[in-house]
Amino acid sequence: MKKFLSMIITLCLLLPLCGCKGGCYESGGEGLDIVTTVFPAFDFAREIAGDKARVCLLVPPGSESHSFEPTAQDILRIQNCDLLICNGGESEVWLEDMLEGMETEIPRLVMLDCVQALEEEVKAGMQVAGQEHDHDHEGHDHEEAEYDEHVWTSPRNAALICQALGETLCAIDPANSDFYAGRTESYCQQLLALDAGFRALAERSGHPTMIFADRFPARYFVEEYGLDYYAAFPGCAEEAEPSARTVAFLIDKVRQEQVPAVFYIEFSNQKMADVICEDTGCQKLLFHCCHNVTRQQLDEGISYLGLMEQNLNTLREALG
Ligand SMILES: [Zn+2]
Repeated sequence: MKKFLSMIITLCLLLPLCGCKGGCYESGGEGLDIVTTVFPAFDFAREIAGDKARVCLLVPPGSESHSFEPTAQDILRIQNCDLLICNGGESEVWLEDMLEGMETEIPRLVMLDCVQALEEEVKAGMQVAGQEHDHDHEGHDHEEAEYDEHVWTSPRNAALICQALGETLCAIDPANSDFYAGRTESYCQQLLALDAGFRALAERSGHPTMIFADRFPARYFVEEYGLDYYAAFPGCAEEAEPSARTVAFLIDKVRQEQVPAVFYIEFSNQKMADVICEDTGCQKLLFHCCHNVTRQQLDEGISYLGLMEQNLNTLREALG
């Protein structure tokens, strides 16, 4: 595998450099070359680096980040970047394998390492595909506990990540350190204002239970605000058909907890939410996990802050 990768890398280096941008979605800046794997990393990099960097989002918008396979151009792009911002964890094993095959060390920031990581949790009523794991990768040992990767769903974590990112940028581009420090500070203030909004709402509404008729990549969010939750599938389990038992369990919970709404996440087919709403009379609401966005949303200037503010409004409406 390693040999194969280094062969690809060598082949890449022989390719003409022009037009070798791969499928990257790029921000408009110039200067540092920053490669990111998932949307939150891309957005944070844009916010902190401003026009001093060209930021590329490696996983194409709208596609499944857990089954991503890099192209030869992507590998070259990483090889030559000034900074790689990745998520870390089980679904980026492809990246670890690739980096191991590279001769030079790529400067990188791992989002999972910037925060207090939480282990994946299988909660009562959750339907787990196969036996125990949702992020499945052949040939990798699954003995150890896995960390939940969706760290950015807590705005407080987002601020920690951006703080680390700001420091990293100051270190690799000291000439612009005042610029990065200023942007880090003002962006983190916005993140912490958002955090305060969620915290106040959670307190005011008595720390209610959130019921996800869907997958559940929002563990860091609910932990942050002391909310209980139920969900059909853990983390970013591959989309599976819910069993009758799973649906019945969630319907019971909706009645028991007397929640006014069930949540679904972006890119969901919403079928399970519809069934539960029909049976219980509650409403369905979209909770943005900000994992991934569409090309159109990117073109329209979507941001992590914008999506999380929508979440805050949705929750205000649902919980008061
Ligand atoms: Zn995921």
